Formats: sequence, C-alpha cells, structure tokens
Amino acid sequence: MIRSALFLCASVLMAVCSACAPANKADRFDRVVCNSPASGSMFIKNLYYLPTGYTPYPGLATPDPNGNATLVNEDPYLSSLCLAYNAAPSKFKAQLDGLKATYIDKTCTAGARCSSTSWGFRPPGTQDTYIALSAGLWDGDVPTYSQFEYLVCSNLLGTTCPIPAGGTAPNPGIQPNADTQTMTIVAVLAHELGHLTWVVGNMEFYSCPGQGKFSDISWNKTDLLQRYHQFGIQSGNTPKAGKQKNDIITDIASGVQNTIDKDLDQIYKDDNWASLFATVDMDEDFVETYKLRVLTTLTSNPLKALVVTVPQYGPHDIVDAMQNGNKDLHKKSQWITTCFPSLP
Ligand SMILES: [Zn+2]
Repeated sequence: MIRSALFLCASVLMAVCSACAPANKADRFDRVVCNSPASGSMFIKNLYYLPTGYTPYPGLATPDPNGNATLVNEDPYLSSLCLAYNAAPSKFKAQLDGLKATYIDKTCTAGARCSSTSWGFRPPGTQDTYIALSAGLWDGDVPTYSQFEYLVCSNLLGTTCPIPAGGTAPNPGIQPNADTQTMTIVAVLAHELGHLTWVVGNMEFYSCPGQGKFSDISWNKTDLLQRYHQFGIQSGNTPKAGKQKNDIITDIASGVQNTIDKDLDQIYKDDNWASLFATVDMDEDFVETYKLRVLTTLTSNPLKALVVTVPQYGPHDIVDAMQNGNKDLHKKSQWITTCFPSLP
C-alpha cells in the first residue's frame, strides 16, 4: 500500500480572509516583541508566510523548496503565537519546536472558504512536518475559545450550531472555565499537530501492548483510512455506539428540532467523545482527545472545565469526563498517556 503522507484538516473561520499582501523581508533576530522563552524557540524562528498558490495535495513537495518564504515578523501573528508557545506545556513545546516550518496563509481571499485553509502536512518521502494557519484566524479579533468551538461546530454542520458560544441561563452553551484567545490559537495548533502525530506515529495501525489500538475503544468499522483528510469528511468508519456528525446533519435536514437536540445531546452525555468533531472519524477522535489534553495542561489559564449544554438538556463537563470518568473519553486519554508517554 502506498502511504500518502498528506492530511488536511481544518479549522474554522467564517471570517473573510484578507488579500495577500507582500511582507517586508524580515530578519529573524529582530523579533523583539516575542518574550522569552518563545523568542529563542525553533517554532518562532521557523515562522513564515505561506508561498502564494500552495495548497497541499497528496504527492506534493515541500511548500518552499528554494527557501524563499518570508519570515513572519509582525503582529498580530507573532505576539499571538508567542503567547501560545509560552502557555504550552513542555511536551507540546517540544513538538512545536520539531516542526520544519509553521506558515501563516494570507493567500485565501475566498471568504467563508478560508475556513478550511489551516492544515498539517508531511511531504512524501520526508520526515519534515509543516503546519499552516489561516490568516483569517486573526481577521478582526481572534475568537475566544468558546467562540472558536462554536465556529467549528457550525462549519461541521454547515449551519448555525445549535449550541451557543458561552451563554448564560436560561440559554447556556459552550462554557470553558477560561475563555481566552490564546486557548484558541493553541487549540488550532494542537489540532493540526494531532494529525501529524497520528500519521507520523502510524497510530491507526499501532496495537499498544495490553491496550490494543486506539480505535478499538470507540470504533466498530475502522478499515477506511483517510491519510488525506479534508475538513469534516466522514469516510464511512462507524462508532460502536451513538451518533456521528452526519447524523446531526441528517436531523437538521429533517427540520425536527427535538430530534436535532436529542441526538446532539447524546454525543456529549455518553462521555465518549471530546467533541462533535471527534465523531467524524478515528483520526479526528484521536486529534480532538489530544487537543483537549494539551488545553488542560497549559501553563497559564489551563482548561479545567468545558461544560457543554445542548438546548433542553442538562450540562456535560467534557474535561471532567476525560479526567475522572470511566467511559470511552477517559479510556482514550489513558491510552495516550500509557502508550505514548512523551506526548502531552
Ligand atoms: Zn482534523
């Protein structure tokens, strides 16, 4: 089997991306806005604008074969990524520093379609790993973490997410204990690094001694591999129990609000999933669990609770389910800890 080393998965934004503007040639030692320890990090030293016209696809070579990409040396990108790096747990810092390059993609001018221009990528035949973040993430204010998860949910469903960002009684929605912009930037980085970790570690095939495969925990059918995974695409792999993202889309098409809410609530109340996104496929399941582990171990303002309340239903704390529960989400987090102790 030929392994495609590419995967694409995406974040988020509804915001219109700004047009690509040529940046000034920057000196990598002029990054005075970046506070220690981020200023000395390989992650920040390898921060570039994505060369125009580059869109990952299976078989495609490195984004910048001639080393002509322009260093990022301006805000809001630099300060924002420095704050994210400084807040990251040490194991995640090490992973960020291991990236060959991180790109800011200012090339997207296609409005809402800019939402799918963040990606993780390893060119075939290399061990070099890359991440690109859409500049649309910084268009206006960076969304807070609850806003970010709301946008992800809305993009996955192709319509307004029934669960609002933040929210207060009588309409609570997605409520993290800390709701920061830095958490959003870390979440996007962790999602894409999670994909790289999944593929580089061959985790869809790895049977951990005494633990089995990651996908054994929640998945029934697991033979359809998506090495090139575009945002939200379900391959046909199915979970052992419960609903998937496309079931909610079917519910939405039927127009029966009670059914939409009931099925959405089931995804959260079962304590099996880190998010709606995790139900898309087994790689997204790993990625979203990994992301949650990173966010709960931030060195400042860590995620200590993520309470999700579907309209008409009771609250479910996803972080509590992961850390203290006895269902699949807890088992998946334990699988990562036990089988890959070097991971966050
Ligand atoms: Zn993904």
